Amino acid sequence: MSNLNTAGKIRLYKSFFTGLDNVYGTYDPDTGNVRQAKEPVTDEVILKHLKGIQPYGVYLLNGDKTKALAVDFDEDELALPIAFVAGAKRFGMFSYIERSKSKGFHAWLFFEEPVEAKKARIVAKKILADMGKPNTEIFPKQDRLDNLSYGNFINAPLFGKLVPKGRTVFVEPGEPVKVCEDQWELLHRIQRVPAIRLDAIIQSCGLKLNDTEVVSKETEPVDHNPPEHSFGLPPCIRRILSEGVTFDQRVCTFRLAIHLKKAGLPLDLTIVTLTAWVQKNKPADGKEIITEPEIKSQAEYAYKNGYKGCGCEEPVIEAFCDDSCPLASRKNGGLSK
Ligand code: SF4
Repeated sequence: MSNLNTAGKIRLYKSFFTGLDNVYGTYDPDTGNVRQAKEPVTDEVILKHLKGIQPYGVYLLNGDKTKALAVDFDEDELALPIAFVAGAKRFGMFSYIERSKSKGFHAWLFFEEPVEAKKARIVAKKILADMGKPNTEIFPKQDRLDNLSYGNFINAPLFGKLVPKGRTVFVEPGEPVKVCEDQWELLHRIQRVPAIRLDAIIQSCGLKLNDTEVVSKETEPVDHNPPEHSFGLPPCIRRILSEGVTFDQRVCTFRLAIHLKKAGLPLDLTIVTLTAWVQKNKPADGKEIITEPEIKSQAEYAYKNGYKGCGCEEPVIEAFCDDSCPLASRKNGGLSK
């Protein structure tokens, strides 16, 4: 896409990051002071953003419609947006991960046409609920605008000043640890979600359109064992993914792979997640960080065989155990292996 001229880039960009056209959000790149600019979103505004002069924040919600949705993961934990992408994929939607401006990630969904924000939000909430992260922030934050507010803006990707620093950029969809080399080529190949897909998901999952939470029609009892049976990862695994380990890397890799498998991640995304994770490890006694072939081998082993154990009794897992985990009280009963 390097042959795309400036007008073409602005046109392509606006086709994704669009909403209200009479107001936008911005901040001072030096002081961080945020303000609302009640002025038209002109090509000049977009150009200044892409050049890194003045950031552009988009108010996605227009009436009760939106052309995009973003989930804001404010932790530097790549496994979370990857899990969202996997959840979206299970529903036949492509989601794209952006490294946000200072910390964390945005997972974006783009729609073929303006869709009801309520429907987009309820589907995103369903995916987040399945992940065990129901309170993650979603943009747009509301289902519709009232006459008094513009809603909330989200800082748009590709702010020129931050792109060279690897922020506000999309990652490579097949290799999320890497920043996509050609952001324009990626925008060009993004697959947008048709409105009927949202309808199909809402219908098949029995979701009720409710402004504040996902409500399922089913009257089945709620699964009260999230670490074993839902998308949620138990506290020990979340901490390990966030902090890395200092010993028993292979055992830990194997157990992490089992948890990510249970969370619904396909094998290739699990390998990507673990490859990023091992960089956080600080092996004791001068040992090396385990290699990619070793990670692959441990992950494949965990996926090919029917392992389900949480590994609570493994010293490297137990070191991160947290009493808040529902399994903690059952741990002594030998549920793990
Ligand atoms: S009981 Fe402890 S070690 Fe086992 S899954 Fe929960 S937090 Fe992890």
